[in-house]
Amino acid sequence: MKTIEQHKSLKAYNTFGVECFCEYFTSVSTTEELRAALLNEDFSQRFILGGGSNLLLTKNLSGLCIHVDLKGIRIVEENDDLVIIEASAGENWHDFVLWTLDQGYGGLENLALIPGNIGTAPIQNIGAYGVELKNCFVNCTTLDTITATPHRFNLEEAVFGYRNSIFKTALKGKHVITAVQFRLTKKNHILKTDYGVIQEELGSKVSSPKNIAEAVIAIRQRKLPDPKKIGNSGSFFKNPVVTEIQFQNLLQEHPEMPHYRISDSEVKIPAGWIIDRLGYKGIKRGAAGVHEHQALVLVNHGNASGIEILTLAKEIQEKVLVNFKISLEIEVNIY
Ligand SMILES: Cc1cc2nc3c(=O)[nH]c(=O)nc-3n(C[C@H](O)[C@H](O)[C@H](O)COP(=O)(O)OP(=O)(O)OC[C@H]3O[C@@H](n4cnc5c(N)ncnc54)[C@H](O)[C@@H]3O)c2cc1C
Repeated sequence: MKTIEQHKSLKAYNTFGVECFCEYFTSVSTTEELRAALLNEDFSQRFILGGGSNLLLTKNLSGLCIHVDLKGIRIVEENDDLVIIEASAGENWHDFVLWTLDQGYGGLENLALIPGNIGTAPIQNIGAYGVELKNCFVNCTTLDTITATPHRFNLEEAVFGYRNSIFKTALKGKHVITAVQFRLTKKNHILKTDYGVIQEELGSKVSSPKNIAEAVIAIRQRKLPDPKKIGNSGSFFKNPVVTEIQFQNLLQEHPEMPHYRISDSEVKIPAGWIIDRLGYKGIKRGAAGVHEHQALVLVNHGNASGIEILTLAKEIQEKVLVNFKISLEIEVNIY
């Protein structure tokens, strides 16, 4: 039986650096340990923890917090062109991306330097610079959180959307992901360099998976606050998608509004631009604040509580609703 700690601080386990405690805590490094923790009848509630980079803790957690620390990377199958790799849930995402690049595999380069673990990546279909996890996803294995029975979800069954999947909607909290399989290229890599910043960063360098990853890393290091220096959870809100009619109305009031057309009838607006426009960039409410360079990122300047950060988020949501008639959706998981 794995050690179970009592009344453990989760401050070091969430990138916001918020002080909250869980009633009981265990870290599992095998599927058997995970199964035993899920089936342990001493606990009525369970909380699944990965790298803690997409969380805002607003209260102490009752029951057992299970830190998923399963490790391992293996080749499932390969041919001259493609390879299918399985990585265990507790592997660090960015370390895995670097490992794939060192093997000469392509596919994950645009997703370099995203914090968090492998097992959490499918939950919100992590994405950056024109690529989403779903582009390389083959399947993931899970254990049912109540019965601990194993399941496997393929691409269709995972129902991926923009920062979304079945694990964030219909099956929220019902499965623990234990491993993810990816299909990566060994040659004829499909490179995505249509984001202007990537092209600028690449300059005269040839487009290759490694060079793109280096460009992405350099851009992200300049642009995004490092959670080791200032507590944050990356983008706090999703970029809103509006209808064509809403978009035309907004454009009349804000002709300079940046936007990305995602279909004939839908347009995505950068939430950071809206928040900046409302004067929130760099503001502070006690130790909670909006980052001075990235209005989409809420930060903990020191000892902010989760409630303080959430209160600021709600204030921003209200301002956006009143001024832009847009409901900003929170991307971070609130507990
Ligand atoms: C600086 C910064 C930049 C970021 N940039 C991006 C970005 O560019 N694109 C992007 O998409 N995201 C980004 N994020 C968000 C975050 O990195 C991702 O959402 C990441 O996948 C979260 O992984 P995690 O292991 O830290 O999850 P956690 O925060 O530990 O957990 C998130 C949720 O998943 C649940 N969970 C955890 N592990 C499992 C599991 N094994 N099975 C089932 N449920 C589980 C938790 O209960 C919680 O609800 C960024 C975050 C930061 C701090």
